[in-house]
Amino acid sequence: MTVTYLKKAVRTAHSDEGDVRDAVAAMLAAIDAEGEAAVRRFSREFDKWEGEIVLSDAARQAAIARVPDKTKDDIRFAHANIARFAEAQKATVLDCSIEVIPGLMAGQKQIPVEAAGCYVPGGRYSHIASAIMTITTARVAGVRHVVACSPPRPGLGIPPEIVFAMDLCGADVILNLGGVQGVAAMANGLFGLPKADVLAGPGNQYVAEAKRILYGRVGIDMFAGPTDSMILADESADAEFIANDLIGQAEHGYNSPVWLATTSAALAEAVMARVPDLIEALPEPNRSSARAAWADYAEVILCGDAEEMAGVADTYAPEHLHVQAADLDWWLGRLQAYGSLFLGEETTVAFGDKTSGPNHVLPTSGAARYTGGLSVHKFMKTVTWQRATRAAARDLGVVTARISRKEGMEGHARTADIRLARFFPDETFD
Ligand code: NAD
Repeated sequence: MTVTYLKKAVRTAHSDEGDVRDAVAAMLAAIDAEGEAAVRRFSREFDKWEGEIVLSDAARQAAIARVPDKTKDDIRFAHANIARFAEAQKATVLDCSIEVIPGLMAGQKQIPVEAAGCYVPGGRYSHIASAIMTITTARVAGVRHVVACSPPRPGLGIPPEIVFAMDLCGADVILNLGGVQGVAAMANGLFGLPKADVLAGPGNQYVAEAKRILYGRVGIDMFAGPTDSMILADESADAEFIANDLIGQAEHGYNSPVWLATTSAALAEAVMARVPDLIEALPEPNRSSARAAWADYAEVILCGDAEEMAGVADTYAPEHLHVQAADLDWWLGRLQAYGSLFLGEETTVAFGDKTSGPNHVLPTSGAARYTGGLSVHKFMKTVTWQRATRAAARDLGVVTARISRKEGMEGHARTADIRLARFFPDETFD
């Protein structure tokens, strides 16, 4: 590639990994050893929380009563769209069966997991939408037990709007817990809960790392850490939209990369000139987050043509990818690596983040090279079955015994031999 960096990042998501991994591993080990006592200790230490861990029904209802009607309606609007999209996904999750050879039937079934743990981030902002995205999707998938957790605010608990969203979307149990301790409590089945089969939801680097370490003991949706976003723009794009869209995503956190790749040097210059004012116009703490993210993690990349821009996007595999350029159908066909794609200036990443329907829990830090975002599929297992007639067992048994012996697996071969001898006593096989 012959791209030119008009602005280059001095840090990337991978710069921060080492220290976080050690700290999270130590916390998980303490929770394994001491259980609920360690969870309460970390909750005190990191979230200054001394109150109840499992939200009582009375506290749930009291929180819901504090949410204004307009907010409830807005949350219902978003929930309906996310549910509608998840239901369309569920319709694509299909059982199937075929006759592989005469007499051998084999198939696959889709089975929802029993218990899901949904993490709703809440350290810096009140991520109402993450409650909708995770819990609704688990419910549409058919998960029987859904637990949700979110960091409590000191002395106050989980913000009431998040409690309302968790309740509306179908959380059976709500935990006043954030961070590593929230993730581990759901994975380990503490506080009388069923152990989660799958953990889902985004979070900061501690949350993402805890899920990654626990993977294997428990399923996870994907690596969904600090948000990242890329815009691809040609000379037809509007610099004011783009500058706002970049800073809108940079406010997520000091470590949220935003990248612009463009074929227009004039557009790039206009955007870079506009960004500082937009940052300064934000309220705190958003301003500090956006300022740091722009200074250390942001990039502006000048490309020769559309194909080169597409190559940059495929290499970065951004979580959010927004195309503001001509010929949107060409881009939809061409692009290969992203968590969620936004086409045209009439939409924006915030629509997908909050209300439009496709899930906002998406792969970060390049994980979009190998996975998409949260969907009903992440809460379901594709399992297989088979059943054979005796005639089919004859064909399978002869070949299975031979392959097993070539592998040195005599015990396997004999499971075939015994069937051939029992079902076909008058024949000899080699
Ligand atoms: P969070 O809930 O993820 O993290 C807050 C928790 O972090 C606290 O409860 C605390 O227990 C823990 N914590 C804080 N400092 C710690 C430390 N030093 N050691 C151990 N634990 C510590 O909320 P947040 O911090 O506001 O982060 C939300 C994140 O979610 C952002 O990075 C945002 O970009 C990301 N996000 C990602 C997506 C996605 O789909 N990938 C979507 C929305 C949000």
